[in-house]
Amino acid sequence: MRLDRILSNQAQYSRQTSRQLIACGRVTVNGIVCRTPDQEVDRFAAVSLDGALIKPGRPAHYLMLHKPAGYLSATCDPQHPTVMTLLPEAWRNELHIGGRLDRSTTGLLILTNDGLWSRRLTEPRTKLAKVYHVRTRQPISPQTANRFAEGIHFAYEGLTTSPAQLEQLDEHSARLTIYEGRYHQVKRMFHAVGNQVESLHRESMGSIVLDPQLAPGQYRPLSPEEIASLE
Ligand code: URA
Repeated sequence: MRLDRILSNQAQYSRQTSRQLIACGRVTVNGIVCRTPDQEVDRFAAVSLDGALIKPGRPAHYLMLHKPAGYLSATCDPQHPTVMTLLPEAWRNELHIGGRLDRSTTGLLILTNDGLWSRRLTEPRTKLAKVYHVRTRQPISPQTANRFAEGIHFAYEGLTTSPAQLEQLDEHSARLTIYEGRYHQVKRMFHAVGNQVESLHRESMGSIVLDPQLAPGQYRPLSPEEIASLE
């Protein structure tokens, strides 16, 4: 929200008075004087007027979780355990998932309460690389890499997937990099070339790589560098 609007909403000054107070240097954002009334201020920032707190800051949380198989990427579900049950209770209602995984899929899941930040994980225009380790039922045919590079047509949505890179590791396994996150995307891409995914594991999203120290079900906060890598 804009700084002048925060001041007029929270301290009930008129918009004009708010703008004047800001221009005079009486308002701070996270302790730093801000003289720009139309400065956008995120919901985690603390705003003060003449040293008195007008809007307290809130802590932003950014976590990586090693998602185990069998857990739903959802906040609650009557049937299956959700990934939220792996986190401390206090966070369960606050965090959301940036880029869901299917129940059977394992690997990197990112959770945060910062919606602006997490949009970059999922917005198609960000074109963030998501890397998956895939094991398939049938041997991976030599044409698969080219088909994925050309894009696979998804008739239901009437679209073609953007070029993806397949690095074959052995007859039945590969590392696949995609730049979107469509519904069951990897499974449907393999289905389209007559194969089936036996297991799927997300290794990374952009430059955020699943920490090898995390056993399935464990989580840790993202480092400042990992958070900044998406900004
Ligand atoms: N693609 C899938 O098919 N499933 C996932 O969980 C992630 C990507």
